[in-house]
Amino acid sequence: MAAFAWLRREWDRGNDTLSRTALEQGFEHRGQRVRLVGPQGIFKPRQIKHYPLSITTTTTGPYTDSPDPSGQYLLYSYRGNDPDFHENRRLRDTMRDKVPLIYFFCTVPGQYLAFAPVYVVGDDPRALRFTVSVDDFVSLEYARDDSDDAIRRGYKTRQVRQRIHQQAFRDRVLKAYRERCSVCRLKHARLLDAAHIVPDADESGDPIVSNGLSLCKIHHAAFDGAYFGIRPDYRIVVRPDILAEEDGPMLKHGLQEINGTKIVVPGQVGSRPDPERLERRYESFSEQLNH
Ligand SMILES: [Zn+2]
Repeated sequence: MAAFAWLRREWDRGNDTLSRTALEQGFEHRGQRVRLVGPQGIFKPRQIKHYPLSITTTTTGPYTDSPDPSGQYLLYSYRGNDPDFHENRRLRDTMRDKVPLIYFFCTVPGQYLAFAPVYVVGDDPRALRFTVSVDDFVSLEYARDDSDDAIRRGYKTRQVRQRIHQQAFRDRVLKAYRERCSVCRLKHARLLDAAHIVPDADESGDPIVSNGLSLCKIHHAAFDGAYFGIRPDYRIVVRPDILAEEDGPMLKHGLQEINGTKIVVPGQVGSRPDPERLERRYESFSEQLNH
């Protein structure tokens, strides 16, 4: 319960993403330091006798530990291949005894999104993985009807999965661009967004880095509002009526002077904006110009 309370305080402070260091340092409880993660994914601090406290994903696969087709659950792989390995057994015991846990999702190395409380609700020894469901904090205090549990948890878990995808996209794009706006190079993560090149509602609007751009809030809104477009050769084209306007420094430096410049792209080729997607986006920008 102290760990859940600590997490809530972090969330209240606006710390949505937690660093590995913060989780390793953990918090002070009854004169002792309680860690929240360990070297292994299934983690039990020494202050707890039997049950694990947290489960943590790795970034080895794109989202290997998260989605299932129904969207109702998170998936969590066994440690190793032996279902009877002690860590797997202990995690299974939390299912039997309905013990709440914390789920840490690694978005980029060293950065985690936390969800709690989560419950292990299924076990698949053939696929070597558990099924995990997210619940709200109220569930820690009141035992409720089981059928309500399933509906509420299904809803909550779908929301969480959406958060995971958004945050993973944001963290991966910002990391690829070294936390800079690709138009103006502003270097404050709080003022940056991961923008989609092809919108996510679209069929090819995948949440992958090559469909993303790190943009500051102003340039994100301006890009989405078609104040400027980006050609497949990475050159910026500002709308003619914006170029003709007269106003203060934000318009001048922020919008007019970027015309004809090239966006800054990641050094790693695979992370650079996909020219085909840029072209599609640029076509819709040109269409708006001609109307
Ligand atoms: Zn910018």
